[in-house]
Order: sequence, then C-alpha cells, then structure tokens
Amino acid sequence: MSQAATDAGRFGRFGGQYVPENLMAAVEELAAAFDVAMADPQFVEEFNDYLRDYAGRPSLLYRADRLSEEVGATVYLKREDLNHTGSHKINNTLGQALLARRMGKRRLIAETGAGMHGVATATVAALFGMECVVYMGTEDVRRQELNVFRMQLLGSEMVPVSAGSGTLKEAINEAIRDWMENCQRSHYVLGSVCGTHPYPTMVREFQTVIGRETRQQCLEREGRLPSHILACVGGGSNAIGIFHAFLADTEVQLIGVEAAGRGLDTDLHCASIGRGTFGVLHGAASLMLQDEDGQVAPSHSVSAGLDYPAVGPEHAYLHETGRAEYVAATDEQAIDAFVRLSELEGIIPALESAHAVAHLFAMKDQLDPDSLVIVNLSGRGDKDCQEVRQILEQRGNE
Ligand SMILES: *Cc1c(COP(=O)(O)O)cnc(C)c1O
Repeated sequence: MSQAATDAGRFGRFGGQYVPENLMAAVEELAAAFDVAMADPQFVEEFNDYLRDYAGRPSLLYRADRLSEEVGATVYLKREDLNHTGSHKINNTLGQALLARRMGKRRLIAETGAGMHGVATATVAALFGMECVVYMGTEDVRRQELNVFRMQLLGSEMVPVSAGSGTLKEAINEAIRDWMENCQRSHYVLGSVCGTHPYPTMVREFQTVIGRETRQQCLEREGRLPSHILACVGGGSNAIGIFHAFLADTEVQLIGVEAAGRGLDTDLHCASIGRGTFGVLHGAASLMLQDEDGQVAPSHSVSAGLDYPAVGPEHAYLHETGRAEYVAATDEQAIDAFVRLSELEGIIPALESAHAVAHLFAMKDQLDPDSLVIVNLSGRGDKDCQEVRQILEQRGNE
C-alpha cells in the first residue's frame, strides 16, 4: 500500500491516516460526513431514539452481590450483554448505518471475528433495508457456526476468508479491499476503535453512551464514583466506551484487560499493549504484535473477539500517558471466570468479557470493602457455550 500520513485523528504519536491514495477520498468524505452529522441535533436525536427503542438502552448497572462477597468489594456489572443482539456492538452499528443512510450509501461492508459485529451489522442492514456483506476468517467461521447462520438469516452475504490464520486481521484486509472497489455506494462498518481516522474517534463516540450511563447510574446508586473500572480489550471499543466519561476523574482507575492466550511468555496471545511495539496496521499507527522485520505476528485467544494483533490508537496513548492501565488474562483464567460468573450470578458472559471478570478475581488481594468496582460485561456467552463445553470436556479427560 502506498501510504500518506496526515495529522488527522492523532492520539499522541498514535492514530492518523495511513491509507492508499485511492481510498483517501472515501476516508475524507466519511470524516467530513461524521463531523457534520454529530453537530446536527436531529442526527444525534435519531441515534439516541434507536439506542433506546431498538437496542434497549439504557443497559442496566447491576450490583452483583454474590460476586461482591467472593472478592470482598462492591462489584457492579454494566450489562451490555442485555442489548439487542447480545453485546455493545449494536451501539456502533446503529450509529454507522444511520450515517451511511445519510450519506446515501445503501450497501454495508463489515468484518467480523466472533461474529457479534457481523450479526450487529447484518441486523441494522435488515432494519434499514440495506444490502450487507460480511467477511469472516475461516477459523472464526468454524468457531462461530451459529453466528454465521444468524447473519444469513438476517439477509446478509457471508464471505469466508481463508488467507493467513483465517481470523479477524485477514477479514479486515478483505473488507478494506471491497470498500476500495465499491466506496461510491458502500460504507465500511468497522467494528472497533481501530483503523484509519475517523474510525477510532467515530466508533468511540458511538460507544461513549456506555460510560455516560454508567457514571450517572453509579452516582444515583452509590453517591460516588467507582474506584475501578474493568473492561476487556480487543480493538478496544467497549473499553473506550466505558472509560471515556471517566477520563477527567483521575481518582477512577481504568483497567483494560487484554488476552494473554496461553501466556504472555509464549507466542500465543494477543496482548498488543503488554507485548506489542510501535507500527502501522489497517491505516493507523499503534502498538501491535510483530516480528523484528515488521511482519504482523500471529495472535491467539480462546475468544475470537479478542483475537486481533493490534489495538486502537487511543488505548496505546492512554497506556503511554499512564491514564489507563493494561493487564492480561489467560485463556484458562477466562474459562474459569466464565464458569464462576455463571455459577455465582446466573449470568453467562461472553468469553471476551470473561477476561475482565478474570482480572477482577486476580485483583482480589488489592481490593477492600471500600472498593467500588464496575466490570463492563460487553456481551453474553451463548455464542461460546459450545466452545467452552469442548474445552471443559478436554480438561476432564486430561
Ligand atoms: C467484539 C467484542 C469484544 C472486543 O471488541 P472491543 O472493540 O475490544 O470491545 C469484546 N466483547 C464482546 C462481547 C465482543 O463482541
């Protein structure tokens, strides 16, 4: 790719617009349309109406008493799993589909890892009567069979991508290729706070409703701000969505939990902040997993939604400035947390969200009865039950 960097969308030394010449016009058109839309009260009101009437917002802030007792602190769960389609992804896809409609684009392109973003995009395409094509790595197709059927049922075309490791990175490459060819009539609905400007800013703005609600709900319930906020980090959209309203409240500890896969000291993880280095991927400068030659290194996580070798540029920036802290939980810790939260609260979390819950358990010794912890429960675990069942059966046989 020939690459022209601009100053637009910078977060310190991260972010920017590293895109091929023939995509620049589309990227600039989108950035301008987004700015105009967000300044238009009618657009904002329309977006808020759909969040309420279609996605089911505000999502609940639930005090998890048995979990609280287990870790010796007050713990609340922000229930993004209760949104329509089962995760926070619907906030962003509603915003982007409304923007696409405003721009006169009738075709949506999306990539998906766990399938949640693909389903959320297919859902809004059906809602607005748009055409939709979703790119998905073949490995993820295998892991998320039921989501593939859901997307097809919703009237979307699903295109399996077998290149490379057959996961999210390759699916994004194919989606960008499609967008380049069809940008006149198509909008690319990127699913996280990654990629070229305006995506990291745009997706964040569509997700900040999570943190705004959380802040208000927490003050209403507890009369004070939380001491800690935990969220899992793949590309980083649910985390930035809940962090953003608290950035100025420096007493609130913001903790992002990456996937440590089989362990940070193996090659099988996706801790782009914990183990990554500076580089450019999919149009943005950020921290990413790469070898000495700058080749993107394969990533691994038991949860398809975290299996991405880079992270949104704003998280790289929050890490570098120290405003947020980034830690990691292994596959095994996430599986244990998946089981434990189900038993303790009757809530089966997405495997992605289980990483944040796993870190809550790991923090137990640092918490005291005054601690007020909010965990962003980014999604529900129905999609993961088959995978977890197989893993638990294997464990039983060892
Ligand atoms: C996609 C997904 C994630 C990871 O994406 P982020 O952009 O990091 O939020 C986390 N949880 C769930 C349930 C997801 O579907």
